[in-house]
Amino acid sequence: MSRLPYFTVLALFIVVGFLSGCQEGSISGGYVDPALVVPTEKIPSEDVYVAEAAAHIDGQITRVVGRVKRALNNCCHNATGHVDIVVVADDGIVLDAISVLFSPRNISKTGKMSAKFKADLPYAVPEGTVIRLRYHDSLHAVDKDAYAGSLFHCEQNMAVPEEHTAVVLP
Ligand SMILES: [Zn+2]
Repeated sequence: MSRLPYFTVLALFIVVGFLSGCQEGSISGGYVDPALVVPTEKIPSEDVYVAEAAAHIDGQITRVVGRVKRALNNCCHNATGHVDIVVVADDGIVLDAISVLFSPRNISKTGKMSAKFKADLPYAVPEGTVIRLRYHDSLHAVDKDAYAGSLFHCEQNMAVPEEHTAVVLP
């Protein structure tokens, strides 16, 4: 019985360590009320792909954050595309289709081999919404005076569901 407190303390350390590890890995940048979390769906793509994504409603905006990653360090010369984002209502209607650049603009072939993105949609998405994301290997907006986080309309948004071609822009 005298060993019981030791194991209790050990178990506590493990739990605390696990929780803090989760927080470090969080891409949302802190605690988010579960009621305000918007589900995301990462559409697979080769070579470069959306590795992490999270979205939540913050007042009058919907913040979408995530990370784009190279599959292999020698997979491709450039990883300078963008992330296509599509807001799909619970009835399958596409509410918005928008794109965002990531930072750094060309994903490094060494180290983390990833880049971050953040998109603030200027509205709170309705309940039941799913946000789809896909990396788009395109030079669109590459010559423009665009910066990471600036939103633009991609003419061939790759995250639009195939069965829904009608895009209702706000
Ligand atoms: Zn695109």
